[in-house]
Amino acid sequence: MKLVLKFGGTSIVSPENIRKVAAMTKLLSKEHTIIPVFSAISGVTDDLIKITSYIKARNSEGANSIARKLVKTHMEIANECVRNPKIRKDLVERMKADLGELQELVKAMLLLGEVTPRSYDYVVSFGERLSISLVAFALNDIGIRAVPLTGKDVGIITDANFTEARPLMDTTRLHVSHKIDDLAQKKVMPVIGGFAGADQHGNVTTFGRGGSDYTATIIASSIKADEVWLMSDVDGLMTTDPKIVRNARLIKEVSYVEAMEMALFGAKQIHPRALEPLVAKKIPLRIRNTFNLKNPGTLVTANPQPDTQKTVKCVSAIRHTGLVDVRGGSMVGAPGTAATIFSTLARAGVNIMMISQSPSESSITIIVKKKDMDEAVNALETELLGKMIKKVDVTVDVSIIALIGSGMRGITGVASKVFTAIARRGVNVIMIAQGSSELNIAFVVKDSDCNAAVQALHEEFELARAG
Ligand code: ASP
Ligand code: MG
Repeated sequence: MKLVLKFGGTSIVSPENIRKVAAMTKLLSKEHTIIPVFSAISGVTDDLIKITSYIKARNSEGANSIARKLVKTHMEIANECVRNPKIRKDLVERMKADLGELQELVKAMLLLGEVTPRSYDYVVSFGERLSISLVAFALNDIGIRAVPLTGKDVGIITDANFTEARPLMDTTRLHVSHKIDDLAQKKVMPVIGGFAGADQHGNVTTFGRGGSDYTATIIASSIKADEVWLMSDVDGLMTTDPKIVRNARLIKEVSYVEAMEMALFGAKQIHPRALEPLVAKKIPLRIRNTFNLKNPGTLVTANPQPDTQKTVKCVSAIRHTGLVDVRGGSMVGAPGTAATIFSTLARAGVNIMMISQSPSESSITIIVKKKDMDEAVNALETELLGKMIKKVDVTVDVSIIALIGSGMRGITGVASKVFTAIARRGVNVIMIAQGSSELNIAFVVKDSDCNAAVQALHEEFELARAG
């Protein structure tokens, strides 16, 4: 098989882990053609983002001290993940050069005191640029010819929408397949850095947080891979959070759309656009644990086996969200009310997680992250209170509970089952929403009721049962 393996940052946090991952890649490459994609070492992207905040705040000590910390941890790992002295020396030199460039860059940006989206992307792309050298040289150390390639090096071309770039798939496909075929002929394994690409002028762009998943699927689609495996520190997608329900189970198979819904919740967050490149070519994806390969993980495919098709496949919760209720008589029958409310929130940089409007049109309820709550209320009150809206009410500390499963579509009685089970536990439902795709039902409860609601539903839909 032609396999794209994407390793998350926790898979490479230490020299031992890097060697383990290299050994595993070597083993798999005896049977398959392996194209590995790597995230930054965990925590590194967060640190790089912190550096950009310090630069904006003109805090040179803050920025430089994080940069020094990154130099230290990467150099320590570089010195330990390779045994052969000659290869180690080459690695150390390369790391020094890249880390030196990072420090120069930070210095220059501190002088300017400015972070543009373009320079932000360049800084945060360093995590992957560094991690792939470590792995590629660790592979060389055990006899595999491998070269580190950033997203730009391998030919991922994107639009110039820095921080949230999208690949230009036709050109990317051409460049990437060419580059990888070329290396394959020379029997060299490309070790690809996730998260970043470059626009048509060669400026480095990134795909947003978690973007290495997206890199893996872009590569897979470009070279028509047989499968993509997302390797991280979880076994796969679970029926619910095992911290809430002890007998939560691994889900065997889900469809692309189900996985997209689940990606927003749960322990394994997949980049929201990562499945897009796979859909047209129907390339299956597996979510697997780097350190527990005995476990087959969760398979994401176009057509899951009929025997895995349950009505509901998982119950998830997003805690600590806030509810904003907007009311006013003049909202009734006034076209553009919702648009005005939403654009007011958008201008304030508030992301809306869930919406519902009563048919009387006199109230719209919105769920936002708790951290966005003040901003949301502020914006609505200053811009709209007394005009279009009469009252803004807030409820803090609520949780969104969502049931996901395409088997719900067209089946009657699911909602009644859900709310009867919840009511039996004495849990009050504050708000309900169901998309017309019927792929999920989501409702809102108080944070303090979250566990009870999740447990009730996990039991009601018998999610602990195999199948
Ligand atoms: N390193 C990037 C991040 O932490 C991309 C990734 O890990 O997928 O968001
Ligand atoms: Mg990461």
